[in-house]
Amino acid sequence: MTAPRKILVTSALPYANGAIHLGHLVEYIQTDIWVRFQKMRGHNCHYVCADDTHGTPIMLRAEKEGITPEQLIARVHGEHSRDFAGFHIAFDNYYSTHSDETRTHAEDIYAKLQTAGLIETRAIEQFYDPVKEMFLPDRFIKGECPKCGAKDQYGDNCEVCGAAYAPAELKNPYSAVSGAKPEMRNSEHYFFKLSDPRCQAFLREWTRGGQLQAEAANKMQEWLGADGENKLSDWDISRDAPYFGFRIPGADNKFFYVWLDAPVGYMGSFQNLANRVGLNFDEYWQDGSETELYHFIGKDILYFHALFWPAMLKFSGHRTPTNVFAHGFLTVDGAKMSKSRGTFITAESYLTTGLNPEWLRYYFAAKLNGSMEDIDLSLDDFIARVNSDLIGKYINIASRCAGFLTKGFGGKIAFDADADLVAMARAGSDTIAECYEQRDYGRALREIMAIADRANGVIASVAPWTIAKQDPTSPALQAICSEALEVFRLLTLYLKPVLPKLAEQVESFLGIPAQGWAEVPVHLTKGHLINNYSHLMQRIDPKQVEALVAANRDSLAATPAVEPKKEKKVEAKPEQVAATSNDNAFISIDDFMKIDLRIAKIANAEHVEGADKLIRLQLDLGALGTRQVFAGIKSAYDPALLIGRLTVMVANLAPRKMKFGMSEGMVLAASDTEGNTSGLYILSPDSGATPGMKVK
Ligand SMILES: [Zn+2]
Repeated sequence: MTAPRKILVTSALPYANGAIHLGHLVEYIQTDIWVRFQKMRGHNCHYVCADDTHGTPIMLRAEKEGITPEQLIARVHGEHSRDFAGFHIAFDNYYSTHSDETRTHAEDIYAKLQTAGLIETRAIEQFYDPVKEMFLPDRFIKGECPKCGAKDQYGDNCEVCGAAYAPAELKNPYSAVSGAKPEMRNSEHYFFKLSDPRCQAFLREWTRGGQLQAEAANKMQEWLGADGENKLSDWDISRDAPYFGFRIPGADNKFFYVWLDAPVGYMGSFQNLANRVGLNFDEYWQDGSETELYHFIGKDILYFHALFWPAMLKFSGHRTPTNVFAHGFLTVDGAKMSKSRGTFITAESYLTTGLNPEWLRYYFAAKLNGSMEDIDLSLDDFIARVNSDLIGKYINIASRCAGFLTKGFGGKIAFDADADLVAMARAGSDTIAECYEQRDYGRALREIMAIADRANGVIASVAPWTIAKQDPTSPALQAICSEALEVFRLLTLYLKPVLPKLAEQVESFLGIPAQGWAEVPVHLTKGHLINNYSHLMQRIDPKQVEALVAANRDSLAATPAVEPKKEKKVEAKPEQVAATSNDNAFISIDDFMKIDLRIAKIANAEHVEGADKLIRLQLDLGALGTRQVFAGIKSAYDPALLIGRLTVMVANLAPRKMKFGMSEGMVLAASDTEGNTSGLYILSPDSGATPGMKVK
């Protein structure tokens, strides 16, 4: 057994002027699963985060609400903490950047960068609002797009044509704060000299360390340019008063730009935790530290975390991150989250509508693979996946076996510790652990569900319900049900990083202490007593998901488009990157009704001579007669097993003459988006449907 690792993990700091929504939760759930996994492995893992509280948007929002910025950020801190707790995000500390700890570290880093000769001042020209008497961040200047002429566009990019530009290029600019025509004024700003050869050399080396995700390393190379090229420009780290933030020591009425103190907030939060529970701050942050430091972030803030932040740390005598884990954005039903469609779903509405947070944790985990790809929350797939995997496969094992043990054996466990079924379930533990470690949760869950599938197969073949009818106290009945519950215990352990609350319920039902990875070999021993089984998890009712979408459509449709976010001038906006052609994502009911879907009985099915992929189907449509259809399902189905099945077909597809004869329609089958033919699933109606029935 190797010594436990010392690991510090962060998630990006949410900005304190808005609600947590499902897009945010992709990151916090992803991080929380990883942290819970590390803790279950016996490592010393600390998870810290904080609200990001500074900047112009916070200042103006508080002013609009007639409260102080401190009051605003205190209220939002309460809301964010409530939402995270609701989704079982278990931070070791959830703090605020508006804290003495963060200020002290920000001032310290700044002083050391200054000593290192990496801070310089320079006068810049910037738009100034003469009515409001303040310099305007790019997001608070609006005007006509210099490229396409669209009105009311922000100062940094056009949301109509996507062009990026400087605020000075806008036509007829006006202040989004007061509506006044802004003036160009000079102001002295402080810069972090990222263009310094030392920064360039360090970042090149750091980027090539091999630890970054391939996509992130490529992006960094793009920003850094070829060897000998100097593409990085100095970073403006100051803002003029009035500003809500930390004053720059020794400067007159200048403040640190919010993006300087935001990552320092990781340190501030950890310092606060360290003081509280007696950890050594320097052991985790000083140059030469042997502990591990990981930042989970969205790919839109990679620039800040992979360029500015490591350089700030490096040249102020601190350690640099062990790794930065960037993830993609969330789309809902294939499109950008939309308030008008009700898919801009807040964490709070999800919980108040009564949906189980662990359903979403499971679904997101199933979609995450440790890459920067976007992930899609398909609402139908969400319902189907959770109901099929969690209820149909996993919970099913306990619900069909526990009762026989309680009734016939007083809840007493007895089985052969070498049983094949149990050995099979235990053998998966290393692979599953490796998948979690690599943040490939999708694969971890596929491995886990494969074990559940095999267990269900064995249970069905032994059929405890049949044994129980003949002899409810048969030792064979006790053995199969005990083995099934031991497999259920292992599956619960494997799923625990994703489903922590459900795992607690199961531990209490099985009468066992909290489990970590060390408990993989510890089986339910002979004579162990389980408690009475009570229902562990509900299926998702599609009506709940409808209600969730309706709740978000009703409450949010009337609010203005988008609150200005913290400036992110250097990288593309997430809302652009995630955007797809929303308006084309829907068809009308009339379009749908044009498709004549019918229940068909497969009267005959046979291979087609000379065709690699096709099966010839004779479909019985009842009163509508019979049809011949060639279906490309040969890789997935044995024709003999299809005969007699009911399925769904498109009955009004124009007949098509093929090399082998006429194809008079199409049967429906599910497959992944790549059309991967190894995973093809033809549809079946519930029992009671008869050939020729219309499907709509
Ligand atoms: Zn434009």
